[in-house]
Amino acid sequence: MQRTFKIERFSPEKGERAHVQSVTLECEGVRSVLDALERLQAFDPTLAFRRSTRDGACGADAIRINGRPALASRTLLRELPAVIELGPLPGFPVIRDLVVDLSAFWAALEGVQPWMDDDGAPQPVQGRRQNQEQRAALDGLLECSLCACCTAACPSWRRGTQQFAGPAALLHVARFAADSRDAAREQRLDDVDDAGRLFACRSAMNCTAACPQGLNPAAAISALRVRLARRSI
Ligand code: SF4
Repeated sequence: MQRTFKIERFSPEKGERAHVQSVTLECEGVRSVLDALERLQAFDPTLAFRRSTRDGACGADAIRINGRPALASRTLLRELPAVIELGPLPGFPVIRDLVVDLSAFWAALEGVQPWMDDDGAPQPVQGRRQNQEQRAALDGLLECSLCACCTAACPSWRRGTQQFAGPAALLHVARFAADSRDAAREQRLDDVDDAGRLFACRSAMNCTAACPQGLNPAAAISALRVRLARRSI
């Protein structure tokens, strides 16, 4: 079965403007968009895209597929129309073809310190244990693969609103703020309690719709707001 791919190409070293390349490919035996990209690359080695684990675990292969951020490895050709539009993730500068510069994404994540704060306490011999309820509080907050699909889909992020941290970074704030072992839970709430970092979210819900892991960053952001509101009463 043939498919037509309309791919946004951009090679800055050639001094050319971004343009759409249309390629028709025989896709017999081709399962996913990532598989198709690899077949296309066999014909045109200059085509640039990222990939790593090939099964969506790494999040490296996030691109725009028919207008939406998605993982190329998780998007099956049989679920797509005959004409497939591929482009780089929105909201980030394009380095080349489907490869974007994620520096701002990583900076936003680093800005919320996505690691456990033990306040210097010595590690107990048996580790920092949680009961079932404490562990269950982290379900839906731990599984992020840092693919950036949610952040690319977020209109507040794309507007570059002040210091908005974006849905992925805020999901990590919620993850550590919910962790019984973290010594900086209240401080984490303080750090996002301003109009730019958290409240620039307009609850568009695009982040949740875009997440290939089925996570709900919008709900996590909403829960952070509720906790901040309760604290202030
Ligand atoms: Fe990707 Fe979902 Fe994590 Fe956002 S929350 S970075 S969409 S896995």
